[in-house]
Amino acid sequence: MSASSDLERSDQISNALADLRKRISQAAERVERDPADVTLVAVSKVHGVDAISGALAAGQRVFGENRIQEAQEKWPTLKAAYPDATLHLIGPLQTNKVRDAVELFDVIETVDRSKLAAKLAEEMQRQGKALPCFVQVNTGEEPQKAGVLPKDAEAFITECRETHRLDVKGLMCIPPQDEEPALHFAFLREIAARNKVHCLSMGMSGDFEIAIELGATHVRVGTAIFGERPKA
Ligand SMILES: *Cc1c(COP(=O)(O)O)cnc(C)c1O
Repeated sequence: MSASSDLERSDQISNALADLRKRISQAAERVERDPADVTLVAVSKVHGVDAISGALAAGQRVFGENRIQEAQEKWPTLKAAYPDATLHLIGPLQTNKVRDAVELFDVIETVDRSKLAAKLAEEMQRQGKALPCFVQVNTGEEPQKAGVLPKDAEAFITECRETHRLDVKGLMCIPPQDEEPALHFAFLREIAARNKVHCLSMGMSGDFEIAIELGATHVRVGTAIFGERPKA
């Protein structure tokens, strides 16, 4: 890529972020929430270090990645340059990758089974860290999707807190593609309230505004910042 088109891309990302921050504020204000209570998690999966650097230069500090190995290739140098950047794991985590995940990530959004919770607790203790965690809930009960089933959420949240001593800060969901996301967002908020969980990671490029209106504290937005991802 030429220097001038690099610059253009950087401008596009910076403009997209400014536009997004405005839309986040407006959505929050519609329901009389403080926009500062909504964290934009910029989902940089598939996008390269140059694009991410553009977002960092524009002031964005919170990012999401869904694959450990890809994050390991991109983030150590980026974090060295921007020590206040924080990285959320938003994709499925295998227990054999827990050590790497705890080393690199700052927040784990996809805790969804006992074995993983136990391994995370053990590894955090070993590394002297207490990373904030989110429990992923499979609100649509889709067989192919990760996340604890809604009926098991309460027992699992309690187990994470009391048995594994994990800092369960929030719940996360990815609604089914072909259903009204608002129903899932409202459902997640209800489960969170019942369990005294304060953060809600919900809403992506297509539906973050309605998610904010329904209480999202974290929106995970990729396409609306970086453009379409190349198809795998
Ligand atoms: C890719 C991804 C996103 C971002 O989706 P966009 O539609 O590009 O905003 C959000 N959450 C998760 C879990 C993802 O994997």
